[in-house]
This record gives sequence, C-alpha cells and structure tokens, in this order.
Amino acid sequence: MIEIYFVNKGKTKIEENTTVLEALVRVNGNAVAGAVVAELIKENGVDVKSKLVDLDYKVKKDSVFNIIYPDGSEKASNVLNHSTSHVMAAAIRKIFPDVKFAIGPAIKNGFYYDFETSKDVSAEDLPLIEEEMKKIIKEDFKFERKEITREEARKLFRDNEYKIELINEIEDEVVSIYTCGDFVDLCRGPHIPSTGRVRAFKLLSVAGAYWRGDEKNRMLVRIYGTSFFSKEDLKKYLQKLEIAKRSDHRKIGRDLDLFSFHDEAPGFPFFHDRGRKLINIILDYWKEEHLKENYMEVSTPIILSNQLWKTSGHWDNYRENMYFVKIDEDDYAIKPMNCPGNIIIYKSNQHSYRELPVRIAELGLVHRHEKSGVLHGLFRVRSFTQDDAHIFCTEEQAEEEIGRVIDLVCRMYRVFGFDRYKVELSTRPEKRIGTDEMWDKAEDILKKAMDSRGLEYIINEGEGAFYGPKIDFHVRDCLDRTWQCGTIQLDFAMPEKFDIEYMGEDNKRHRPVMIHRTVLGSIERFLGILLEHYSGNLPPWLAPVQIIVLPISEKHHLYAEKVYNYFKKDNFRVEIDKRVESLSKKIKQAEIKKIPCMIIIGEKEEKTETITVRKKIGDDIKEIKLEKFAGEFKDIIDNKEKNY
Ligand SMILES: [Zn+2]
Ligand SMILES: [Zn+2]
Repeated sequence: MIEIYFVNKGKTKIEENTTVLEALVRVNGNAVAGAVVAELIKENGVDVKSKLVDLDYKVKKDSVFNIIYPDGSEKASNVLNHSTSHVMAAAIRKIFPDVKFAIGPAIKNGFYYDFETSKDVSAEDLPLIEEEMKKIIKEDFKFERKEITREEARKLFRDNEYKIELINEIEDEVVSIYTCGDFVDLCRGPHIPSTGRVRAFKLLSVAGAYWRGDEKNRMLVRIYGTSFFSKEDLKKYLQKLEIAKRSDHRKIGRDLDLFSFHDEAPGFPFFHDRGRKLINIILDYWKEEHLKENYMEVSTPIILSNQLWKTSGHWDNYRENMYFVKIDEDDYAIKPMNCPGNIIIYKSNQHSYRELPVRIAELGLVHRHEKSGVLHGLFRVRSFTQDDAHIFCTEEQAEEEIGRVIDLVCRMYRVFGFDRYKVELSTRPEKRIGTDEMWDKAEDILKKAMDSRGLEYIINEGEGAFYGPKIDFHVRDCLDRTWQCGTIQLDFAMPEKFDIEYMGEDNKRHRPVMIHRTVLGSIERFLGILLEHYSGNLPPWLAPVQIIVLPISEKHHLYAEKVYNYFKKDNFRVEIDKRVESLSKKIKQAEIKKIPCMIIIGEKEEKTETITVRKKIGDDIKEIKLEKFAGEFKDIIDNKEKNY
C-alpha cells in the first residue's frame, strides 16, 4: 500500500499502480470534475520540481499531488493548448493524408503545429480543419499514454524524418506516445483526459517556419491556434487580439507619421518631425519631474575606451551585445549602458558626506546588438535612449533614496495613464559576488522601502543581478499585457571596482552605495507601449498635433488662418488643412492622424466669430468663442488629463 496526499483535499492509502484519478475519487469524489492534470510535488518524501502528469498516471510511490483545474493558470492553459494541437494534427491528417508532423508545442495563449505536406495550405483551409476538429472533439477520444522503446518508436515513425530526429535526441531508452482516436504522436505529455475537454478553440493563422528555426532546413507549414476552457474566455481573447492588431505601434507610427525603419540601418529607428516632437514632450515632462527631485542631468560620450568596459565587467559579460570601433590605433566600444560614464563624472570631483546623495541622471543613447530575427518595431531595437540615473549615497540613505525613486516611478506612470502596474523583487542569484551579510542588508533595504509604502510585490528568488538585488516595474496596458519598464538596482560592487569614495564626517574616505535606476526604461520602447495602450489616441498633452483647423471652403481661409495663428501664438501644437478637399475627407484624414481636436470653420462660425469643435471623444461643441475654448483646452493639457 502507498499513501497519496492531495493538497487541500486530503489523503488516502491505496494499492500501488492506482491512477491519480481513482485515488482522487476516493478522497474527494467532487474534486474530480473539471480536473485537468496533476502536479507531482513529492515522491517518497523527496521534493520533485513540479512535474505534471496525466490524471491516469499510475502511482507507484508515496506521493503528494496538487490537482490542476482550469483556473486561468499558465499550467492548465498550456496543457489544454498542447492537447488542442494534437486534435488539430489529427484533423490535418484527415484532410492532408500525406502530412508529416514536426513539432506542436503550447505557446503563450495558444499553440502551433509545424508540418510538411505536398499540398498548399492557406488560411482558407482553416475552417475546414476546424470542422474536422469539432468531430474529433465530439467523439471525446481519450488521450492514452503508452511507453515504448526507442527502437519501437523508430519503427512506428519510420516515414517521418522529423520524428526520427527527435527520437534520436531522446536520451532515455523509453519514450512515450499519446493516442487519441486513431492518431498517434510522439509526446512527453501530459494531456487533458479526453478530446471532449476542448471546448473553445480557434485556428488563427498559417505561416512558414523552418525546421528547427534554421533557414538551411526545409520550410514547413505552421498553423497557429488558441484554446480556452470557456467560450467567454475565448471571445474575450479574440477581441483583445483584434484590438492589438489595430493598435500595433508600427501601424500607428506610419499613420501618424512618427517614425520609420530602413534597410540602411536595420533596427535603428528614424524619427520624423512628429515622432521627435512626441519624444520631446515625454522628455520635457521627465525633466520637470527629475528637476523637482534634485537630479543633475549630464551627458557622457557614446564611444568610450575598451579599457573602461574591461574594468566595469561588460567586456567579460556583455561583449556579444556590444559594437566596437577603432580610433587611431586604439580600441573603443559604443556604450551599451551609461553606468561607467556616470561614474567618471562622479569621480571627477571630490565629494563630502554633506553632498550625498548625489543623483546623476542621463538620457543616454545606448547601443545593444540584437539578432535581426528578434527586431520588432520600437519594442526591440539596436539603439535607444535610456532614462538612466545613478544615485551615490551612504548605506543609511539607501532606503530613503529607493523610496523616493518608487514614488517617482508610480507618479510618472499614473500621469502617462498607467494606473496598474506590477512590481517584482529579484533576490540573490546563485552566482554572485559579496557576502551573505551584504545581500541580507541589500534585500532588506529594498523590501523596507516597498513595505513602508504598502506596495504589493512578488519575489523572484534568485533572479537578481550578480552584483545586487533589484525591483522591476511592469506597467499593465489596456489589453492587460504587462511591459517591464522601470528598474531600481542596489549595487555594492561597482563602487568597489571603480574605487569610488566620499569624505566622511570623520575625515576618512568611505565607499558610497550606488543605485542604478530607470523609470521608463527605453524612451523609444515606452513610446511604442504608449501608442499601443492608447491605440494612437494620445491624450492632448502628449499628442504631437493637438489641434487641426479645417476650413469648409476657400472662402473661409482668412478667418481660419486667424484662428490658426491664435492657437499658434499661444503655443498649442496646431495645424491647418487648406487643401481643396471636401470637409468629410479632411475630417477622415485628421481621424487617421488621431488628432484630438478638430476646429471647423464655416459660414456661421465666421459670422459669429466663433469656432465649432469636433472632439475625438464626446459631443461636438458648436459655435464657442475662440478664447473660451482655448482657455478650457489649455487646462486639459496643463492637467495632463487622460480623457478628452
Ligand atoms: Zn503532445
Ligand atoms: Zn547603471
């Protein structure tokens, strides 16, 4: 007899080789309904690092299980999605009998399967495959696991060179296969109990993918899909996808004429007039907040000697991501980070304890090499402006300084329209420098700063940098996606490496602590996040063009120009559209450019010396006095109001 314990459910003594499901029925029959898979936590009293198994896994040892239900967790979702990829493969085989399957994993929010077939596969085939999948789901075939030898597996998949390659890479003598209906696949598992548990799925797209991602290999067909436990969840997700497609910042960047990318410099954005204006608006606000917090602003060279990067450790740890140049006969690197430059500035003066903390900020242009395959609009680029700062302070000051940075980050996120964010604390990694005492202290400082503000955070054990723990801020956008932006890092190592000092009250030299921090992370990437968050409909204070004046016909150009000049003089970002086009066409174009405020000038407006305002959101304002509207709009801009 063995003992099985189910977390939160209870335990039972049962015969060896009983399945998890049978044991669960014994302990708590009600708990069976909806169960997806089991997570094995302990075996014979020893911790197993979370191994997922099928519900009909035969238990051989004393075990502790956690039953996974459809609770929105990634574990449940992955198993469902991967199982749906098997169902899709079974359907594809019915339609394309000569198919050879490669791999079909679960991915974030979905799954795909790569395969080879002699037929052309296009998006038009997807409904057909979905129909076939529905039949398989209706049959409610069990997912059955079988273990066979590698030799048997090679025989079973002899016509499929992809599976053979995979089998040859498996080190165990025994491999597992899964059957649902008459479809057999090489698979580690686990799976949902039966195909009937697939309730809400959708095939999304067809793409090409090289076997193993290597362009020297054969191009396979890849079909993407997604699967949920409920129809409502699927519907919500598809709506989000639709919005995400419309709010892709690369499309918005083109529509609003903000930036572009060119073959002459892959991965390096070109900012057009409006895009640069927008960045300047972000930076003006950034500078305003940093001035209040008594930061100095500096700028340091983009190209710095290799020797410096050897001292900083970047040469050893970060070289693959750096670009290098030769000047005269000497070797230089293009900076991937601003820290060493800021340290040189700190060190170029003597500092007394009275001056600390010294807060040095730099909007530094850094270059980091990224593979061409991962470049993605403004989200993944090869050069970007980091809103960096380094704070040099005493150990006693560190907690307060970190607290101030936290307040600054939260305040700035709210102004940009991100009311929701998630915070993570990454603690000491296995490979690290410094004593445990130092790490205890550093982690404690970060925790205290957050706790005293009632900030909720999760802890990522072992995810800190080798020289210190850090706090990461992830903003949550309107589509519920999170983006890592700000970070605060406590560093005891660099001050040591660069021999940084200050004069103490005792007239002796002391080592300061260094805090690395960014609020927005990369300005370019943050701009991309903002554009997607607002679907390009930026609030007036951020909009690169706030107002466009639209005369109905040529007759009104004179009065329209008067209105335009009024706004221009008052420092509004205003444009005028004097083209000989219909008003409806001009309005449509202004809508594509997502200009928050259109001012329409016609007969009536000219006669009454008023304007008519067409707002992006809310009702039009008819025939309002120019001065009155300008005053009201100015307030909205000055208060950085989000909704207009
Ligand atoms: Zn599988
Ligand atoms: Zn730094």
